[in-house]
Amino acid sequence: MDYVEENVPLAPYTTLGVGGQARFFAEVQSRAYLCVALRSATAKGVRVCVLGGGSNTLVPDEGVDGLVLRIKIPGMSFHDDGTGTGALVRAGAGISWNTLVRYATSRGLWGIENLSGIPGTVGAAPVQNIGAYGTELADTFVSADVITFPKMEHLRINATQAQFGYRESIFKKDSSMIITSVTLRLSRERIVRKTYSDLENARERGVMLDTSLDIARALQDIRSKKFTIRANEGTAGSFFKNPIISKERYDVLQKRFPNMPGFPIGTNIKISLAWILDTVLHMRGFRKGNIYLSDHNPLVLVVRQPSTEKEVGEFADDIALRTKTATGITIEREVRSCKLTTM
Ligand SMILES: Cc1cc2nc3c(=O)[nH]c(=O)nc-3n(C[C@H](O)[C@H](O)[C@H](O)COP(=O)(O)OP(=O)(O)OC[C@H]3O[C@@H](n4cnc5c(N)ncnc54)[C@H](O)[C@@H]3O)c2cc1C
Repeated sequence: MDYVEENVPLAPYTTLGVGGQARFFAEVQSRAYLCVALRSATAKGVRVCVLGGGSNTLVPDEGVDGLVLRIKIPGMSFHDDGTGTGALVRAGAGISWNTLVRYATSRGLWGIENLSGIPGTVGAAPVQNIGAYGTELADTFVSADVITFPKMEHLRINATQAQFGYRESIFKKDSSMIITSVTLRLSRERIVRKTYSDLENARERGVMLDTSLDIARALQDIRSKKFTIRANEGTAGSFFKNPIISKERYDVLQKRFPNMPGFPIGTNIKISLAWILDTVLHMRGFRKGNIYLSDHNPLVLVVRQPSTEKEVGEFADDIALRTKTATGITIEREVRSCKLTTM
């Protein structure tokens, strides 16, 4: 395999900044090179793991005994969608998500402005159906082109096949799918959304929020302040997902915690883990060694160097155990372990 490096430390390729080495590592600049690398991996019996910007990935201390492919596939194109009010936007999986948001909003397009400021790549965005400020990727998703490993099928996965849910998708369940590009449908007409206190506060400070570009810029600014970390620290944003529980279970919990916020999702209720960590467990700013929960948002785990993946894992397990003990709720990590495909 050309351009494949050996024994490459992965910590610098992730925002958490912990973990060991990749046995093999390659940056993938094109779909053609991806095919070459995957065929070569199959021939040598090497398993594969995909990395984008590393902003939602925890690398094991023992490293990854396979080929880590860092997806850098470029390209971005905009076309009318034929309705006169919309545009189809296609972007390579390696494009930075924020570059896409900035491009789209600069062209007056609406639909992803509330997702401004989320780190990472376009290719990873459908994996956990990124979401913020009442918007999810699923709202604009049309399709993703994927190559499966090791079967090497070239598929176009549409929105139904993508099986999106809260931080869920087929791409997350089936790690054989490597996304090479994503197509979104955006609108030329303003999409009016629920207002959020962060944006209302910005408006009161005189920040313009007339265009999608204004909103994208304002949110980028708001988020950069919310996720402030020091130079020798790392984070992956929210480390855990907000739990989704049945209405019956929520009603029981609400008797114990009358102010517990709940947001309906279908017939279930999504509850705010940040609220539980803050109000029930008093863990805002909780620290163990070099790892702590953010003062701004207790859902955000911050890692100060030097740290190990084992320490991050133990800290996270402790949070999960305390939550379970206090509320009976089992919480799930949002951050993903570097997972090798099966062959
Ligand atoms: C400060 C901060 C704030 C954040 N805020 C939010 C937020 O508000 N909302 C939100 O939803 N997320 C948020 N995140 C999480 C993260 O930004 C998103 O999950 C993002 O989509 C991850 O992109 P990435 O390229 O860095 O993915 P990576 O960490 O590189 O990968 C994440 C997962 O996707 C897989 N993957 C990556 N690329 C591909 C591909 N091309 N094909 C198939 N699988 C792939 C990887 O194997 C891995 O399992 C935040 C993270 C940080 C650090």
